Amino acid sequence: MTLKNPVISADHLTVSVPEGPHYFFQPTYKLDILIDVSIAVRPGEIVSIVGESGSGKTTFGRALIGLMRPSGGQISLDGVALPDFSKGSFRKVRREAALLFQDPASSFNPRQRIGAMIAEPRRIAGQGGMRRNDLQDLAATAGLGSSLLSRFPHALSGGQARRAAVARALSVVPRLIIADEPTAGLDVSVQGGVLNLFLDIRDRHDTAFLLITHNLAVARHVSDRIVIMYLGRVLESGPTAEIFRAPRHPYTRALLDSEPVPDPKRRRAEPPVIGEVPSLMNRPSGCEFHQRCRIARDRCRIEAPAETPFADGHTVRCHFPLDTPAGVCAMAAG
Ligand code: SF4
Repeated sequence: MTLKNPVISADHLTVSVPEGPHYFFQPTYKLDILIDVSIAVRPGEIVSIVGESGSGKTTFGRALIGLMRPSGGQISLDGVALPDFSKGSFRKVRREAALLFQDPASSFNPRQRIGAMIAEPRRIAGQGGMRRNDLQDLAATAGLGSSLLSRFPHALSGGQARRAAVARALSVVPRLIIADEPTAGLDVSVQGGVLNLFLDIRDRHDTAFLLITHNLAVARHVSDRIVIMYLGRVLESGPTAEIFRAPRHPYTRALLDSEPVPDPKRRRAEPPVIGEVPSLMNRPSGCEFHQRCRIARDRCRIEAPAETPFADGHTVRCHFPLDTPAGVCAMAAG
């Protein structure tokens, strides 16, 4: 099968912010939030970025469309590298990509009716207004009843707000949708509806999706590929089925083992992962996961692992990648 060219790709992307007691006047050192992140998304592909809070997944989504300014690396649109990270360069990206914020209601104008809000991106993009029928069709595509178009944002439920945000994103027919925690705070039945809507949009328009989530069940349900992030780095990436069948990074394995199992007789011998995520201001030496890794050795504390490629685009950043299928490792739930 021939792979399509990526709609968007990031190569060795780095995002750093100045930090220190008087950073505004005199930056004393920089805080690296993303380090050397390379991810590409192809048309019709759903890629999920998974990781704990502070892993840099939201920063990556925001950096892709210029809401955070990258400090290094490269972003390419349709294979053409942006000349720089200026506002003008990101304007091209924003014509092709839409971002669904984690809390969609907070991105709405509380004084604007839902219909006007959905039509607004087309007007801003210079594509003209929308006729009532087109607006109703678009709302229907997102599973939103036409009676809601005359309401204000506060009158929508969480699921309806999420669908209104999707409809607004679709008004300019984006080729890429970046969805930040698209199911957060929604009932399980509504979560399924939103995810099925994404699949439907993908199938109809060949739209690419970048899902940012900490929910592995969501990632497994809809993604073609999964990227596991930790402290701003990619630790493992590959096809979804392969990641779930045989995770090679101890952190990925720990995340999979942390998923609750609805079996009261099943008990964990020990927690899948030790301790808390370290502070970005105090990155551990060597492999940054070594303080929490159950199979860390001396080398891990000294030497940072490089990314190792396996078959089918599966990559792992670990000195001692696992080679046992999920569920049969010492770290699996007992
Ligand atoms: Fe664990 Fe070492 Fe691999 Fe890091 S490099 S994940 S510490 S085994």
